Amino acid sequence: MQSSAEDRGGELARTPRRAGAPGRPSLLAAYVSVAVALHLALTVVGVLRTPVRLYEVVTFAALLVCGAACIEVSRRLGLPAGVARDLLSAWWLPVALLLPPVYALLIPIPLQLLSHFRVRRTLLYRRVMVTSALALAGACASMLFHLVVPRPLEGGAQWVIDGYPGLPAAVGCAALFTVMNTALVAAAAYMANPESSWREVLWNRENLLLDVVELCAGVLVAITSSLSLSLLLLALPPVVLLQRSLMHQQLQAAARTDAKTGLLNAAAWQREADTELARAQRTHEPLALLLIDIDYFKRVNDTHGHLVGDQVLIGVASTLCNQLRDYDVVGRFGGEEFVVLLPGADTVEACRVAERLRGRVRRLAIPAEDGTVGVTISVGVALFRMHGEDLIELLAAADLALYRAKQSGRDRVCLPAVDGSKAEEA
Ligand code: GH3
Ligand code: MG
Ligand code: MG
Repeated sequence: MQSSAEDRGGELARTPRRAGAPGRPSLLAAYVSVAVALHLALTVVGVLRTPVRLYEVVTFAALLVCGAACIEVSRRLGLPAGVARDLLSAWWLPVALLLPPVYALLIPIPLQLLSHFRVRRTLLYRRVMVTSALALAGACASMLFHLVVPRPLEGGAQWVIDGYPGLPAAVGCAALFTVMNTALVAAAAYMANPESSWREVLWNRENLLLDVVELCAGVLVAITSSLSLSLLLLALPPVVLLQRSLMHQQLQAAARTDAKTGLLNAAAWQREADTELARAQRTHEPLALLLIDIDYFKRVNDTHGHLVGDQVLIGVASTLCNQLRDYDVVGRFGGEEFVVLLPGADTVEACRVAERLRGRVRRLAIPAEDGTVGVTISVGVALFRMHGEDLIELLAAADLALYRAKQSGRDRVCLPAVDGSKAEEA
């Protein structure tokens, strides 16, 4: 996912929240349809009513080429899913500020198409929603800014000079663009997955910092390009460098996490689990391990496609996080397999937690193109000391319990058999 707004969509899908209801696909479909229809209608009206001025078309083309260059750079970095923040606002914002609103409605279309086909394909409704959100937010910011500065491209960068309200208006409109874009995408993501957290998305400190960086870059590029388009050649390298360093940071974080779900990856989970196990050994506290596998997941992929399968994985991961305490260690172990370490949990507590997770996952309804998808999970539970003395033994015991849960019909929680022959169902 490429734009910052889209990144928010992804994060929303991964972000845990306390209580949650199943997704509302019909509401989501209606919302996306209204946004797209509004985008298209405004674009048609804008195209018909905006006079074509050569210098505006050239400015638009130059900013479009810069945006495309940034997308190509991120493609070359070979970004895994989950590394998503870019600096494309550095190019959307000048379009919105300097050109009539119709250009803000147009620019996300080619750039999102490029992202979709050159960088990463994502669910179509998401891509379309992100495009329309960027367009509508850009057009609003543009209309407002043009009320203050009707012809920003005329007379050099006159609108920036001291005592003139151009600069504060540009900053205000850029902020409006960011807030509106975030809100539009967050609303769609919330409808797709009500377990996601609005607060996390809107007030995530890291995102806020990146928004400020993007806003500053966008306003600076707008000033530069209104002075002279050739100055874009000077603006492009620093923006690309900023983008690269931003992505490098994300790549470092990505080395610990599973890109698809945002959970710890297997190696990072194992490191954290080892630390917890050593602590439990020292303090003589109980500790439990849950091995969780989605039932018949292959059927989901076969019936609805891999992208919907991915959304199911994200939904399950989000539900797990939502239901667990901050100090529980949750990881994605393999394809559709998750692992949870519960420090301080004895048999009763571990089985209670596992049952709660099973119940919550059952209530998930992931939107697909043709309705919703629901899944169940099987859970294998193993207790430290009772079933294993180290991580390898615990994992082996939980794997045995999981196997038994599958054998006895799936959608259930099992402990390893006491006598080695009979499943002990929790
Ligand atoms: P069971 O109830 O026995 O667990 O059946 P299952 O279909 O869940 O298990 P199986 O091991 O046969 O299939 C797992 C499937 O998970 C096969 C693989 O294509 C799919 N898978 C693995 N990783 C991913 C992923 O990241 N995304 C998607 N969409 N599918 C994945
Ligand atoms: Mg499975
Ligand atoms: Mg499996």
